[in-house]
Amino acid sequence: MGYSREVYQAAAAALAEQKARAEQTAETHRTELYSAFPRAEQIERELATTAITAARAVLHGADAKAHLNRLKEHNQALQRELDGLLQEAGLPKDYLEPHYACPRCSDTGYVDGRMCDCLKKRLRAEAYRSLNTLTPLSLSTFETFSLDYYSEQADASGRSERGAMARVLDICMTYAQNFSLRSSNLILMGGTGLGKTHLSLAIANAAIEKGFGVVYGSVNNIVSKLEREHFGREEETDTGSLLLDCDLLILDDLGTEFRTAFAVAEIYNIVNTRQMAQRPTIISTNLTMKEIEERYTERFASRILGGYVRLPFCGRDVRLQKRMRRAADQG
Ligand SMILES: [Zn+2]
Repeated sequence: MGYSREVYQAAAAALAEQKARAEQTAETHRTELYSAFPRAEQIERELATTAITAARAVLHGADAKAHLNRLKEHNQALQRELDGLLQEAGLPKDYLEPHYACPRCSDTGYVDGRMCDCLKKRLRAEAYRSLNTLTPLSLSTFETFSLDYYSEQADASGRSERGAMARVLDICMTYAQNFSLRSSNLILMGGTGLGKTHLSLAIANAAIEKGFGVVYGSVNNIVSKLEREHFGREEETDTGSLLLDCDLLILDDLGTEFRTAFAVAEIYNIVNTRQMAQRPTIISTNLTMKEIEERYTERFASRILGGYVRLPFCGRDVRLQKRMRRAADQG
């Protein structure tokens, strides 16, 4: 999977910084130890010299073996003396060695010429970060979702908007709490300002906290990003595969994107591929099922009908109510 140059640069820079920090700490340790025990510096210098002498001995052959054995013993004696000094100072044996966050690749990102898992993980995290930057994820949590804006008035069947929304809220909280790769798909349906985005962001936050890779985006933004990549105006990007591979994909505001053959095909492809791979997706939309069928294809509508849990949102535009309340308070 390819990543954009920015993602590579950001991941490589972060890794290099981590490596430099580990080595800097080891260097500081060394300087401290040398000033407290000058003998330590002599020992380390001698150890470096024995390594060179050993290499020469191998080149000269003859009684190399005996010579090498003597060097080895000398080397071990020096090492023991150094260990003794560290112990005397009350320091651990590996005090002078850099402590890399990833011991497998020593924070270089590569093992035997192959990319280390730590760098792969970093690239992925960086790609998510750059894809999610435009979304105020942190602002929406379950705690900040208020049922006060939904009417308590019961209809003929004894149901109220608040009761219905309390159930929706409950389903979303349970979904977030138990989120796993086996979680079902959700489609949040209803008019503007009823809290669909708020609750889908709250689920996204919970899943991110659990360590899942979440991609969140409005369908409009996602389609234009895919378009730019598809038609070559943005090089080396990875949005397509991130959308298909991420642990949880949240497609906000389905139906607000420009209706083009490209958009319809791409959206179907994303939804269908994720469903086949059993990766959870959450869609929010103002459209009704009938409108979805009209706007997209019948195949798409049947994917949604068959594979998504439908959550109907009701009430009056919460954002509008908040604005009116603020205006009343000020007036
Ligand atoms: Zn590594």
